[in-house]
Amino acid sequence: MNNIVVYLEIEDGIVGDVSLELLTKGRSLADQYKCNLEAVAVGSQLDKVGEQVFPYGVDTLYVADDKRMVPYTSLPHTSLLVNLFKEEKPQIALMGATSLGRDLGPRVSSALFSGLTADCTALEIGNYEDKKAGKVYENLLYQIRPAFGGNIVATIVNPDCRPQMATVREGVMKKQIRDPKYKGTTRKLDVSKYVPDTDFVIEVIERHIEKSKLNIKGSPIIIAGGYGMGSTDNFKLLYDLAATLGGEVGASRAAVDAGFAEHERQIGQTGVTVRPKLYIACGISGQIQHIAGMQESSMIIAINNDANAPINTIADYVITGNVEEVIPKMIKYYKANSK
Ligand code: FAD
Repeated sequence: MNNIVVYLEIEDGIVGDVSLELLTKGRSLADQYKCNLEAVAVGSQLDKVGEQVFPYGVDTLYVADDKRMVPYTSLPHTSLLVNLFKEEKPQIALMGATSLGRDLGPRVSSALFSGLTADCTALEIGNYEDKKAGKVYENLLYQIRPAFGGNIVATIVNPDCRPQMATVREGVMKKQIRDPKYKGTTRKLDVSKYVPDTDFVIEVIERHIEKSKLNIKGSPIIIAGGYGMGSTDNFKLLYDLAATLGGEVGASRAAVDAGFAEHERQIGQTGVTVRPKLYIACGISGQIQHIAGMQESSMIIAINNDANAPINTIADYVITGNVEEVIPKMIKYYKANSK
């Protein structure tokens, strides 16, 4: 009752990173609320899900194992969550802001009249004072996300309806095991009790999955270029630097829009979220939509010809200069000084 629940995205029996990240966040929220962390696994052949999620501090794992639940289709997964949530009444429900979560989340929240905040960049707990009603709501989930084109960061609360629902994009939250020996309990769900037969009207005949050729998210070093790189030709400097340092090339949206790089490389609010050990921002001004996708990098170096560029305020090291001069020097001196 009144626990925190995370919907798990599972592909071929493997729980997705976005779900493990949400479990990490969910665990810390559950500790603050002093409630249990729960996870819902829906699909088939889910025997190995427990060993993957319990170390993240899951107290109860609901398992809805039924061949008809794979691959994902909207109606049965929605019914399962709606009916389970009606029964268990969680106070918070979290899912990934993935294509699946973006389909499932709104369906579940509208069926429960709960509301949902999509694409949160942070989740915290706090109080809310409704001055008009003269009422203070304690320990609400602050659902924090950029709004109005990124011009403000909005904190959204849901005082009355439950569950408080939010989606979070992959890479935004940290993924951290709580205790490798943590043991929760598994509760098997009888799918036919939660999902009416009429929900299985769609049959998926074939699925084609194209794996991404790039792994920007997994790269410990990212050399990102912005509109200030000036041309596709100049962008080649970034590939040279990335090859020298053993990193991957990323881009700002302005650079992608200008055709300097492909969209898969875009970092930020509408691209990927990364947290590498080293992020070198070249000719990037540092607008909030870009920063939202890289501010958790361990070390940031900014190269910009404007000493007052906003990116400099979050950078650990600032190089004020022209990218065309600075990057070749970096390559030259790195090569000269490394074995
Ligand atoms: P600019 O802002 O034009 O900055 C270029 C920088 O390069 C400047 O600081 C300039 O001083 C410097 N420069 C110029 N020439 C040189 C040189 N020769 N040497 C060194 N420095 C030089 N943006 C993203 O990046 N990712 C997103 O996911 C994203 N999502 C968005 C979502 C929404 C809803 C909206 C409204 C916007 C979004 N944006 C996103 C766009 C964002 O607001 C900025 O427009 C974009 O990040 C700017 O990219 P930039 O820094 O490369 O270009």
